[in-house]
Amino acid sequence: MTTPRLRIAVQKSGRLADRSLELIAGAGLRVLKGVNELLYRIENQPIDLLRVRDDDIPTFVADGVAELGIVGYNVLAEHFPDADLESQIVQRLGFGKCTLKIAVPNDAVYEGPQSLEGKRIATSYPNILGKWLKNNGVNATIVEMRGAVEVAPRMKIAHAICDLVSTGATLEANGMKATDLVLSSEAVLIKAPHAPPADLEHIYDMVVHRFDGVTASNGAKYVMLNAPREHLDEIIRLIPGADAPTIMPLAGRDDAVAVHAVCQENVFWDTLDKLKSAGASAILVLPIEKMMR
Ligand code: ATP
Ligand code: ZN
Repeated sequence: MTTPRLRIAVQKSGRLADRSLELIAGAGLRVLKGVNELLYRIENQPIDLLRVRDDDIPTFVADGVAELGIVGYNVLAEHFPDADLESQIVQRLGFGKCTLKIAVPNDAVYEGPQSLEGKRIATSYPNILGKWLKNNGVNATIVEMRGAVEVAPRMKIAHAICDLVSTGATLEANGMKATDLVLSSEAVLIKAPHAPPADLEHIYDMVVHRFDGVTASNGAKYVMLNAPREHLDEIIRLIPGADAPTIMPLAGRDDAVAVHAVCQENVFWDTLDKLKSAGASAILVLPIEKMMR
């Protein structure tokens, strides 16, 4: 009898592919590449990576073909416009961040969603756009396009577009400006509706905990410093995203304590300057390699 293997659906190639593999490697899962195009084996755990187009990931996971999947929130929201997405999402992964925005030609007059009344809007996200238009009380025609949405206004196919934007360079190159934010997105870990088979439960839990640890330690820092007791509150307030710091006595000193804190975000030089001005000394900022909450 073959041992059962957990399946994680990931984008085969594209904007999420590399970061998904980095997350998997960061969780200590060793990927054996090249054996099979569709399936990568994890050599040190009973796990396979199902490598597919991102558009197929929500369905594969919903159908239980894969127990877990890594996909853009935008793709999930488009796929299941009426579902409770939060119940499918295990965790947000902090990468693949982008926004779905309305954009119009630079010379168009735009005074808010109402300016779209009666217009034609090209998009690859008809469901998300349809909901947004409804919420804004706007009647417009949605022109569904698979790609090259940004050329639609120039080709007179549409008056406006609703497309993914990260830097805005593509819009600029096509003589357009972004207006309203329709959806903010990032990669999310999604799960099948049914619990994993009992013999895979511990692997499933391990993967989820480790992914959470990798995501949490991404950019997180460990800060150590000495603080005079009289400025302790102020100093703690200055440490960014510090959650319940540890306060310890300093040998031979009653007027100062040692503060250790995990910061969920990067700590910049100007923060160190402020800490020093507030009386902190011996400040150390260390990278965090692994974390398990
Ligand atoms: P596939 O071949 O898997 O269908 P695709 O062409 O649909 O890929 P990609 O362009 O690789 O998709 O983007 C995958 C996801 O990356 C998007 O759905 C989105 O969640 C995210 N993303 C992050 N930044 C951007 C961006 N600037 N433009 C488009 N997508 C982005
Ligand atoms: Zn796609």
